[in-house]
Amino acid sequence: MDEDALRRLIVELAASLFARGFSVGSAGNISARLTDGYLITPTNSCLGRLDPARLSRLDAEFRHVGGDAPSKEVFMHRAFYTARDTGAVVHLHSTMATAIACLTDGAIPPLTPYFVMRVGRTLPVIPYFRPGDPAMGPAINAAAREARAVLLANHGPVVCGKTLTDAVYAAEELEEAARLALLLRGASPRQLMPAQVEDLLRTFG
Ligand SMILES: [Zn+2]
Repeated sequence: MDEDALRRLIVELAASLFARGFSVGSAGNISARLTDGYLITPTNSCLGRLDPARLSRLDAEFRHVGGDAPSKEVFMHRAFYTARDTGAVVHLHSTMATAIACLTDGAIPPLTPYFVMRVGRTLPVIPYFRPGDPAMGPAINAAAREARAVLLANHGPVVCGKTLTDAVYAAEELEEAARLALLLRGASPRQLMPAQVEDLLRTFG
């Protein structure tokens, strides 16, 4: 996908997430890898009203080289790109996943195959850091070596994908899995067995 098309797709998918309530105000940020750098949503921008020409352009070392100033949470995106071979990162404050991130046991069990297929085997919870604290970067980087998504305690999810569309779908699946986990909290739902999880990861991972 060329850069112009990727810029348009970021704007389109961000607006779709915003319209469905996955982000409010200026919360959330999205990045995607280019052949020679990255695009990321600007600081204080609203996902519902992005301008493709004003997205922040970063070079391969994450230096700002064009467009508006990048999100202050750029380090959490960098932590994923340096931890694993990935094409896009989505960070949201979506309600259900953030609710899970506020629970002390903070984990989402493997309830549905699509959660396992899109989000993976594990969903580490990163300890609380003040938003914008760069110390969060190394903690995310360490967790992202083993996981495609993490929950930031009392903050929200960060999810990656091979493509921008994959990352957005994974963020949506994570939100729905969090909704199910909260609906079933206190019940004893049937979880996927470890062998079933491994079978999904072998087949679709
Ligand atoms: Zn945030």
